[in-house]
Amino acid sequence: MALRIADPDVSAHRNNNLAQTDPEVAFIIRKEETRQEQNLELIASENITSKAVREAVSSVMTDKYAEGYPGKRYYGGCEHMDEVETLAQERVKALYGATWANVQPHSGATANMAVYFTFLEPGDKLMAMNLSHGGHLTHGSPVNFTGKMYEIIPYGVREDDERIDYDEVDRLAREHKPKMIVCGATSYPREIDYARFRAAADSVGAILMCDMAHPSGLIAAGEFPNPVPHCHVVTSTTHKTLRGPRGGMVLSQDEELGKKIDKTVFPGIQGGPLMHQIAGKAVCFHEAAQPAFRAYQRRVRENADALSAALVAEGFRVVSGGTDCHLVLVDLRPFGLTGKVAEKVLDEVGITTNKNTIPFDPEKPFIASGLRLGTPAVTTRGMKQGEMSVIASLIARALRSHEDESALSAIRKEVRELTEQFPVHEI
Ligand SMILES: *Cc1c(COP(=O)(O)O)cnc(C)c1O
Repeated sequence: MALRIADPDVSAHRNNNLAQTDPEVAFIIRKEETRQEQNLELIASENITSKAVREAVSSVMTDKYAEGYPGKRYYGGCEHMDEVETLAQERVKALYGATWANVQPHSGATANMAVYFTFLEPGDKLMAMNLSHGGHLTHGSPVNFTGKMYEIIPYGVREDDERIDYDEVDRLAREHKPKMIVCGATSYPREIDYARFRAAADSVGAILMCDMAHPSGLIAAGEFPNPVPHCHVVTSTTHKTLRGPRGGMVLSQDEELGKKIDKTVFPGIQGGPLMHQIAGKAVCFHEAAQPAFRAYQRRVRENADALSAALVAEGFRVVSGGTDCHLVLVDLRPFGLTGKVAEKVLDEVGITTNKNTIPFDPEKPFIASGLRLGTPAVTTRGMKQGEMSVIASLIARALRSHEDESALSAIRKEVRELTEQFPVHEI
């Protein structure tokens, strides 16, 4: 067949890379690459995806509409969408010991919404962790749909050891009889006793949901307890410790519950699934099943331990005295600084963190007395315990000399020298 000469108007949009088509956006992306190379990423909810994941996410899979589920789509031409979504489902079920999975939620918040909308009516009682003790926005914040739609029963940690107060959980469950209990958190550094939560839920016939968004990578690697056998339903993000593309998922060992949740995800709250993200999730679940991923997650945890110990040696107080996972919650009050100020000072020296409330925080959330630090991204870059001590010392020095511009610029230089030894582009 003779080659057709393309219409110039059409060919102008073909085969042109981003730098040629849109130098403005290409330049912004280049700057972000440089920021990631040069800065120390200590935000506990972030990570660096593999090239394989990014390749899947930037593929032609983004072009396809695939409303529905494998084998039951509302569009033609979905045979490869069915393949990739089924692969993602099978892989994630094997990873966590689930018998049902939905990999379509666009985000962690959407995954939670799907579960709430499946089991709760407006005005129902939802028991979840107090936001200032570690709970997530979607666990009942007054500015979130959960806080507006449901009657929230918050539980928290004990003041003495800053661990979840399970006696309070039992008591509040019996007193309020919530329809659903949520365990799992966004800034709680300790293991969670899922069996204890299940007993509290069963005592009042409540549905138990775990939101494992933060430790899901550790859980996949067996480095943190798995909630799937204990809970009716488990939600997660895929982009935190799990190192996948941005997205959400829902798992269960109860296929009947699962079918109801499927209907809420689509057509209940979402339209077409993001098939490129689902392809990326499939790649991530494959990577998470490899021995190298186990070794990586072990290092994430060892590094968090080392960072916590080094921060204590520098004079910080660490909430609950340490960590069982990838994150450390630092109480800044011994340094006489707020989270807001500390986050800004550390930003100036190229250390990226986020301010965070600590349990019983005297400050408002926007000011906060704490800083949340996590090791997933720096561990992905190859850093080990030795580097964690260096990082703790850089943080302490920056905060001690927060008004001394020349000290800060010297620290900024040391951060550069450290990050140069662990290039992101080689991941
Ligand atoms: C991050 C997080 C979420 C929300 O995930 P998004 O993808 O940002 O919507 C939900 N729950 C918990 C516990 C989280 O940490």
